[in-house]
Order: sequence, then structure tokens, then C-alpha cells
Amino acid sequence: MPSLKLHNTLSGEKEEFIPVDPDHVRIYACGPTVYSYAHIGNARMAVVFDQLARLLKRLYPKVTYASNITDVDDKIMAAAAQSGEDIGEITRKYTRIYNEDMAALGAGAPDIQPRATEHIDDMVAQIGSLIRHGHAYEADGHVLFSVPSYPAYGRLSRRSRDEQVAGARVEIAPYKKDPADFVLWKPSSDDQPGWDSPWGRGRPGWHIECSAMSERHLGLPFDIHGGGADLKFPHHENEIAQSCCAHGHEDDVTAFAKYWIHNGFLTVEGDKMAKSVGNIRLVHELLDQYSGEVLRMTLLSAHYRQPLDWSVQGIDNARAFLDRLYHILEDLEDVPAADNGAPPEEILEALCDDLNTPKAFAVLNALAKEAAAARDPNAKTHLLAAGKLLGVLEHDPAQWFGYGAAEDVDAAQVEALLTERQEARAAKDFARADAIRDELDAMGIVIEDTPAGPKWRQAG
Ligand code: AMP
Ligand code: ZN
Repeated sequence: MPSLKLHNTLSGEKEEFIPVDPDHVRIYACGPTVYSYAHIGNARMAVVFDQLARLLKRLYPKVTYASNITDVDDKIMAAAAQSGEDIGEITRKYTRIYNEDMAALGAGAPDIQPRATEHIDDMVAQIGSLIRHGHAYEADGHVLFSVPSYPAYGRLSRRSRDEQVAGARVEIAPYKKDPADFVLWKPSSDDQPGWDSPWGRGRPGWHIECSAMSERHLGLPFDIHGGGADLKFPHHENEIAQSCCAHGHEDDVTAFAKYWIHNGFLTVEGDKMAKSVGNIRLVHELLDQYSGEVLRMTLLSAHYRQPLDWSVQGIDNARAFLDRLYHILEDLEDVPAADNGAPPEEILEALCDDLNTPKAFAVLNALAKEAAAARDPNAKTHLLAAGKLLGVLEHDPAQWFGYGAAEDVDAAQVEALLTERQEARAAKDFARADAIRDELDAMGIVIEDTPAGPKWRQAG
């Protein structure tokens, strides 16, 4: 087995991955705030960390991957106020849609998907510990983390104090002792969601939820913590501050998580993806047009740390690549393959090199060529196992090409025309055979003649 190397944001270097406990690898990624549909930028994180979890599960006997759902947040409250829906209804609905959309991209639910509202007690306990350790204070119904009390603050993002204050865009509030201090707990009015606490009825700040939930489900320290690059500061910096200081580990920033992994941002046709630009690409809309495997491959076509430009050209390239591989599998239909074969060394090597997915797809391409040439069960098994590790090639080729099914078309009529065309050809009535092909063409049906007879599918 090749050894895994990962770029650690903490050191700024690619490091050999040495698990805290090789018998149980633990990973946490910051999940979505659920108040609207997920866009393809949100999906990049889900797919990248799913790919990392798939690899770890190949390399280690036990892996727990946790990714949270933020279901208490001011943006959710604003969405509820706007739509008139109940907050719980909104968060349940968008959690379900998020999970369905990500599953369609091959990023099935993480092993653990904790919800913030189910962990308020853990957060209250951690805030209490921070106050006792002299790292937090109560002011005006709020509890704030005292940034000057933690000299290692800024280690992860390498920000100076001035940059911290500017970058965090933290609210300048009269109850703050220092402008960099951030909120752990804030008061709720009667019409806002709130929980009783030693500091009155209120709700948690966003950062404390990940500190509390990762510790609850994974224990400290755990191996890998990740998310989008925008989370390095302030979110992850604040998580480190909370988790290390709550346990008296002020001198060791790795007492929380050992490796910090961040995926790059996604632009759309060269522009920043933003509501103001009007170019937000929602996953559920893309899934109406493209298969989940095509979208997954497009997301993994760039190395996870690089920016990814989302474009129709990029999607088309992924689709053409997968079509080519499915054609090879179609051609190998009569070659048997093992269901649960081990992926070949080359694909593991590519992924173990800091999750180099572009290299992994190049390997997949080479494996497909080998399988096409060799026509032997071993080569086909290798190809399928490599595809499975990457979350692609999991369809039956006929299903992939949509053979034998089409929307708004009578399948029996198509079959009858095809039979007639076969009979016309057998009778060497090529004019009639061509006329039938034209007729099917007008219905939006494509015919492919294969050694096993003609197959049909909807053009698209
Ligand atoms: P938002 O929906 O903007 O609150 O984003 C939720 C999370 O999705 C962020 O914390 C990011 O990590 C990730 N994210 C948002 N936009 C992008 C993007 N354009 N590219 C990659 N990740 C993104
Ligand atoms: Zn988080």
C-alpha cells in the first residue's frame, strides 16, 4: 500500500499522514447551513471529503467521517421570517434535499451527521469550561471568547492581529473587551429560537457548534478537519481556539485536530459565483440535465486545492470521458468481472499523493485502454474497482446510455419500428429501413447497431 500524503494547512506542507490511532481514523468536515438549495460550490466540499473518506476507508480498517448540519443560524431565521415557514420545517426540508443531491453525486451521507440543535448541552458545557479557564467572559447577555487570552490565535491562517480584526469583519460591539473577540453565546428574544443557559435564554454562535460536535462524536484529538478554503479564517481559527483552550491545551494547536485540509473555490465560466452576478448553479437543477457521475467527475477534474472553473465545456469533457469508458464496458459485456475487486496500486498511488484526482482519472483512462485491449476478467475487474473508488462507472452501460427507455415516447412503438426495420434489412429493402430510421430520428430516438442487435435510446 502506498503511504498517504496530505497537504496540511497548519504546516503549509505536504506531510505523511500518520493517524492518531491507525485502528480508527477520524475525520470531520464542516457541513452546510440548511436554509436553501445547495449550489455546486457547496457540493465541491462534499465530494472532495467524500473522496478522501473513500480513500481512507480503503487504507484503514475503521474510519469515521462526521460532517455536521448547521440548523440554527441567523440566515435560517431570516429565511423563515421571509417565507413564513417554521424554522424546523425549513431545516428538515433542506437537510433532506442536501442529502439527496449529494447522494446523487456519489457523496452519500457521512457516517455521522450531527445537528447543532441536538448538541446545545455540549456547547453550553464547553462555553462553561472556557469561562472557567479564563478564556471567555459574559457581557450583556452574551458570552465572548477572549482572543488576547490565546497567543496561538492566528496560527492556522497565519494572520497578524490587524488582519484578524479586519478579516473577521467582527461586529464592533460595546460589550466586547477586544475588537477581535468573537461570540460563543448570544441572547434570543422570545420570538427567536433559544435554549436556557447559565447566561440566560439564548443560542450558540456558529463556531462553537463544530468544536462541541466534533469532540462529542470523534474524541480529541482527531485526525483530519476540513472544509472550504473560506473557513480557514475565522471559523477554523476559532474552532482551534475554543477546543484547545477548553481543555488547557493552549500550547498545542494540534490538540484538537492533526491535519487541516481545505478545498479551493469554484468559479463559474471565469466569474465569481454569486447571487449578484446571477450565476449560482444549483445542484438539483444541474441534476435535471446531467448525471450525478458526470457532475462528480467535473468536480474532481481539478486538484482539490486548486480553484475550479465550472463551465459547460468542463461538464461536456467529463461526459465525453465517461461515455468513452462506458462504451468500453459495453464492449466488454461478455467478459466477467469480480464484484468486489481491489483497486490497482496505480490508482491508490495517485490518490495517496494529496488526493490527486486529475492523476487518478488519467490512471482510470489507462486502465480502460488496457481492459479494452486485453478483454480479460482481471483487467476489467481493475477498471471497475478503480471506478468504484472514484465513485464512477457504477451504472450498467445500457442504463448509462439510456437504452430502451425515453420520456414521452411509446417504447412498444419504438420496438415495433425496430423489428420492422430489421425485417426490411433482412429483405434488403434498404429504402424502407432508412425511412424507419428517419422516422425514429424524428421521434428523437437514436439507434445504435451492436453485435447483439440494434439498441435505442433518447437523443441527448
Ligand atoms: P454559503 O452557502 O455561501 O454559506 O457556503 C457554504 C460553504 O460552501 C462555504 O463555507 C464554503 O466552504 C462552500 N462554498 C461556498 N461557495 C463556494 C464556492 N464558490 N466554491 C467552493 N466552495 C464554496
Ligand atoms: Zn465548522
